[in-house]
Amino acid sequence: MKFTIIPKETVLLNPLQEMQRRTVTSEIRFDPLTGRSSRICHFMKLQWQKPDLADLAEKTAPFCPFCPDRVMEITPCFPPEILPEGRLVDADRVLFPNLAPYEALSAVAVMGAAHHIPMTALTPGTIAATLELCLTFFRLLERIHHPESVYHLVNWNYMPPSGSSIVHPHLQVFAGNTAPQLLREEIAAARAYRQTRGTVYWDDLVAAERAEGSRYLGKIGRTEWFCAFAPMGVAGDVVAVVEGVGRTLELTGRDLADLALGLTHAMAVYDEMGIFSFNMNFFSGAAEDEDFRFHLVFSPRTYFNQAIGTPDVGALQHLYREGICMTFPEALARQLRPRFTGISATA
Ligand SMILES: [Zn+2]
Repeated sequence: MKFTIIPKETVLLNPLQEMQRRTVTSEIRFDPLTGRSSRICHFMKLQWQKPDLADLAEKTAPFCPFCPDRVMEITPCFPPEILPEGRLVDADRVLFPNLAPYEALSAVAVMGAAHHIPMTALTPGTIAATLELCLTFFRLLERIHHPESVYHLVNWNYMPPSGSSIVHPHLQVFAGNTAPQLLREEIAAARAYRQTRGTVYWDDLVAAERAEGSRYLGKIGRTEWFCAFAPMGVAGDVVAVVEGVGRTLELTGRDLADLALGLTHAMAVYDEMGIFSFNMNFFSGAAEDEDFRFHLVFSPRTYFNQAIGTPDVGALQHLYREGICMTFPEALARQLRPRFTGISATA
């Protein structure tokens, strides 16, 4: 397992100290699997001011398509060959097709009746139950042998900085036979890794993170948690790998509960930094991808400058696909670890 770092030094004359020479260090890191690079730079204290979220909730509620009085009226239904009842319903959670699909099979799962759930009020139970609803949808697609039932993916954009245009908590649910770019690269690289080494990359990665320890957070059931070595997010990424699981459809109810619990641990710590938004994606192989392990990536999102609406993704990330993280992942792990330790298993 190669964790490659290229250290950089920038010399400048510091106007705050009578133009004395000052050396600023930074790093370029490379993801051990894909070689995707990320810069650890632009260091600042990870502390933001939260906007008035109650006000945002109040302003958006009257027009929200996912609130209980509208969701069963104005959201679309699946055609009968996919789902005769049109939508999947579990208590106050509803899964229906996305009006603006991103894939052949593209759905939205509304997490409940509440229009706004603050990040720290998202319970493991709510998250796990909504993920279970997604799994019910994926299993149904498998049962009818839908040709696009290949990669089963869940995306979560929570609150506007993450790209969400709707405050009401919901998940994006996709199935298709074309994996998105980074997933495709990971699948190809994992195949090559196994061909050269004879082992599964994520099994080796978890073992390496566990042994080295500086980014390792803990284990919940069979979910292994650590901070990404080469993060994509400005405030780092938290990764969970599920032991022995290749794809979304192999996750058990217990796995979903453990993933949900770990996610709430991460949310609790990032909330203390003033973060109120994140992305979370499933990375799943297809049935034949024996080299793959299911993992999810949780990546906090924020504004660079909230007052003028500057997003945390600029030209480096958007057009070069280069990650920027404003702190060392190892420092983040020190902050996150206390939440995860002591919870060695939910079993
Ligand atoms: Zn709503």
